[in-house]
Amino acid sequence: MADNGQRAMEALLARHGFHFSKSKGQNFLIDREIPYRIAEASGADTTNGVLEIGPGIGALSCELCRRANKVVAVELDTTLLPILDETMAAFDNFSVVSADVLKLDLPALVRERFAGLTPIVCANLPYNITTPVLTALIEADCFESLTVLIQREVAQRLCAKPGTAAYGAFSVFMQYHTDPELCFEVSNRSFIPMPKVTSAVLRATVRQTPPVSVADEAFFFRVVYAAFALRRKTLVNSLTTAFGALGKEKLTELVVSCGLDAGIRGERLGLEEFARLSDALQAAEARS
Ligand code: SAM
Repeated sequence: MADNGQRAMEALLARHGFHFSKSKGQNFLIDREIPYRIAEASGADTTNGVLEIGPGIGALSCELCRRANKVVAVELDTTLLPILDETMAAFDNFSVVSADVLKLDLPALVRERFAGLTPIVCANLPYNITTPVLTALIEADCFESLTVLIQREVAQRLCAKPGTAAYGAFSVFMQYHTDPELCFEVSNRSFIPMPKVTSAVLRATVRQTPPVSVADEAFFFRVVYAAFALRRKTLVNSLTTAFGALGKEKLTELVVSCGLDAGIRGERLGLEEFARLSDALQAAEARS
């Protein structure tokens, strides 16, 4: 399967004089089964407007166009546009925005292109910008779900549970805003050029309301990022760097008042514990 796909793709790319760019994270899917499975995992149907990031030569775009009402794909590399004109010619529900996704006003794009549709994201992401792209997609606050092919290790981090080595500040960010689920793994042999790492498809359903309530979301994430800033230190020591004005004694008192062990590490706290700690810290800061 991958052999046929690879030969056809190589011939197409050669005809257009295309060269892969490492800095643009260009690893194209050659195993036709994978785009099919990613599009299925996204749940895209005729009620959806799908935002695809980095269509490449359209391997996933075709599968999305077969299911969704409309597919808008953002592509940074202008040398791919004539290739997409050819590969996507059969689909009148496909269009390309020639731009850097990180510089786009995503809510405006969604308003303009997806009126009356439920916007979702489905993409084989350029791995070098996974974190800023996911952050931007979540902060855009206009997508129902995000289905993305990313490095397996990153997907595991996003789904990681408290107390595990993979759990970090971005796991908390992701799990606060979405319900992430690792759908399936993808071998590096499914791409050209072949990446060094194994990949995985992650489907994150964006939450309508967060799973915990906090007095101040920005403050909550200040606490989360401070708690993970010094991974080998205790929570109290980590917090001292960001909330030092309260003093170590007061910080220890606050941690204990939240029902936590004075010597606990930040990586053991779940969303509930972070929420409790954030509200207690904010109240203490306001009093001091
Ligand atoms: N979807 C194709 C596939 O699955 O075969 C290609 C995926 S490839 C991993 C990533 C794609 O994202 C490339 O087409 C690359 O040019 C594009 N890209 C990289 N950085 C981008 C950015 N900042 N904004 C939009 N597209 C970008």
